[in-house]
Amino acid sequence: MSARDIAYALGAAQREGRNWRCNCPLHGGHSLTPADGRSGTLLVKCFGNGGNCDSNEILAELRRRKLLPQPEPRRNLLNIVATYDYRDADGALLFQVCRLDPKTFRQGQPNGTWNIKNISRVLYRLPELVAGRAATDGQPPRSTSAKAKRMSTGCATNGAYWRRVIPGAPVNGVASSINI
Ligand SMILES: [Zn+2]
Repeated sequence: MSARDIAYALGAAQREGRNWRCNCPLHGGHSLTPADGRSGTLLVKCFGNGGNCDSNEILAELRRRKLLPQPEPRRNLLNIVATYDYRDADGALLFQVCRLDPKTFRQGQPNGTWNIKNISRVLYRLPELVAGRAATDGQPPRSTSAKAKRMSTGCATNGAYWRRVIPGAPVNGVASSINI
């Protein structure tokens, strides 16, 4: 809707230079000045009510009254094709790695933040790895065990993190599996 249409819809529309003046949908006073902004946007400012009518709240009220369209839901600009959960040994979700198309990877936190600063790096499938190790405790040494278990895992970032988790792990290139 144009500023003119909004002004008439809200009542007491008056032309004021290039703008309009009409009733404020929040406090009711004749002090709202809708104007047409660039690229079809609507600018609103209420000069009454001691300056207490927030422009964003006015726009929200106009949307509620269906005088303005609802904002478009945020599109998924990142084409996420797979998400991998990284959990601590107790199963709590620490961070996620998303595979995108075109193929690249991004790391993020469950709260939507696209970084993993100050988040503990853990091996992928750590709870299963820990459970697997627990299951082999008390068993014969692996060399004599008929079934040495091998589980695939990986880490979200470069091999340097492996060294912290597994002393002696390769720095460059990521091992694709470890024995448990
Ligand atoms: Zn107002």
